[in-house]
Amino acid sequence: MLEKYQEGDFVPGKGFFHLCKYPNCTDKSFFGRKNKKYHSDCKKKMDAARYALKREKTKKENQIMFKNLSILEDLYPKSIGYNEIPAKELLLKGFDPKAPSRRIKTEINGYDCHIIHGYAYRYIKKNDTIIIYKENELHRI
Ligand SMILES: [Zn+2]
Repeated sequence: MLEKYQEGDFVPGKGFFHLCKYPNCTDKSFFGRKNKKYHSDCKKKMDAARYALKREKTKKENQIMFKNLSILEDLYPKSIGYNEIPAKELLLKGFDPKAPSRRIKTEINGYDCHIIHGYAYRYIKKNDTIIIYKENELHRI
């Protein structure tokens, strides 16, 4: 469609001319405040789509995190904050080391630990092993 105006043109009585940025918008042109990017309805649709995407991403991250947590719970009795477990053993159970976790350095030894909901683990690179702790045990390492 050939427009009479260019994007950003100010038309007295109407406002600034814009072309809606919503990809599925059928009638792109509209007038409005200077910094508007979308028709009001298109903005609502954009926000809804963004929110759905964000929720989907969070849902996936939570699933991975809970999977990791259940693996730490399962293997904790073997490690009890002391014994090293081959990292491979966790990976075989489906543990994802890249999943979100809270990272801290322990106060006594400065160990780099990952915390997930009450459990924690520390990767020992030279042995390719991990030790699993309960979060409340970290103050002693
Ligand atoms: Zn639109």
